[in-house]
Amino acid sequence: MSALDFSDRVTRVKPSFTLEMTSRAADLRSKGIDVINLSVGEPDFNTPEHIIQAGKEAMDKGFTKYTAGPGMIELRQAICKKLSVENGLTFTPDQVLVSNGEKQSLYTACQALFDKGDEVIVFSPYWVSFPEFVRLADAEPIIVSTDPNNQFEPNFNELVSKINSKTKGMIINSPSNPTGGVWSSGAIDKILEISKKNNLIVISDECYEKLVFNGQYISAEKLNNYNTEVVTCMSLSKTYAMTGWRVGYTVGNKNIIRAMSKLQGQATSCANSIGQKAAIAALTGDQKCVESMRNKYKERRDLMIRLLKEIQGAKCMIPGGAFYAFPDFSYYLGKNYNGEKINDSFKLCDYILDVARVVSVPGDGFGAPGHIRFSYAVSKDTIREGVDRVVKALSELN
Ligand code: PLP
Repeated sequence: MSALDFSDRVTRVKPSFTLEMTSRAADLRSKGIDVINLSVGEPDFNTPEHIIQAGKEAMDKGFTKYTAGPGMIELRQAICKKLSVENGLTFTPDQVLVSNGEKQSLYTACQALFDKGDEVIVFSPYWVSFPEFVRLADAEPIIVSTDPNNQFEPNFNELVSKINSKTKGMIINSPSNPTGGVWSSGAIDKILEISKKNNLIVISDECYEKLVFNGQYISAEKLNNYNTEVVTCMSLSKTYAMTGWRVGYTVGNKNIIRAMSKLQGQATSCANSIGQKAAIAALTGDQKCVESMRNKYKERRDLMIRLLKEIQGAKCMIPGGAFYAFPDFSYYLGKNYNGEKINDSFKLCDYILDVARVVSVPGDGFGAPGHIRFSYAVSKDTIREGVDRVVKALSELN
């Protein structure tokens, strides 16, 4: 045995391939090459000014120390008020755990709930971290497919066929990264009903709740007529353009929150104090900034989808939310460039980067062969120029 024998966990977990694309793009940029980045997973807007001011004020006033482990009581109260006013949900502060970003919330929820031998349903295309969170809890992710023509709603026959005595829970994410799909209330209702029937816990990742462009967003917990155990994870990152502040939270059963809080307390003590003060300002302040950003994303979505639909052979559903388009480019698989065959979306994205100088994310990494994820959290000019370059590059394939 050597000191550098890493744990089994390290070997098991997959590295983030999205970061790999970003670092390749950074490499090209450092060589002076003009690269368009459509792989971004965060708002391009700056955090609204009143939230920044609250962060500055927190520092000036010395609010730079540890807070209560589960989060400042004022923030947990503000979260409960937000849930009541915006989501129609009743929670008390002891049912809330604030974390350093929702990623930590989801990770901790999986650590608290899953064990070796458990199976956890994850719907494909999935956010890359879901199967890894499950694996890091020593459980096994079980992949269930969805319908690309209907907001990537679950294939319920497949879901039911994959539930067995080992199934412990499922992770849902509507609006979704990477598809932008927004599930109907009927689909979520079915998920809750099936979960109750089989005694499963539902972890609902709702970080894109404010980025819904068609119809009204309803939280899974609000649709929960079955008394199903739901753990809801939310974030300030996308709603308020606060990705770097690292504030997310979990709401659910008091005992689950207590268990998660116990683990988080040993991992990181508490979420960052300045971010928590800024989060209070975000949740209790004027919400016009959210509306204004959403309107801009909607215009960008409409532009990007219109342009993608014009691409020969591309199939693209109109995503109901988030800030991603997820076209099916299978038409281009099997084609050649300079005698080299492009046989999967990794190769296609490499080709698009090399020839069009556009960074995108291959669908294979999300469990969706033939698809590519393009983010529209960029300006309209960038969308136009980026898609135009992609079109030209694709036309050179034969
Ligand atoms: N869930 C999904 C589906 C995401 O796309 C992200 C971020 O990209 C997160 C959760 C985590 O957000 P954060 O940790 O910034 O709150």
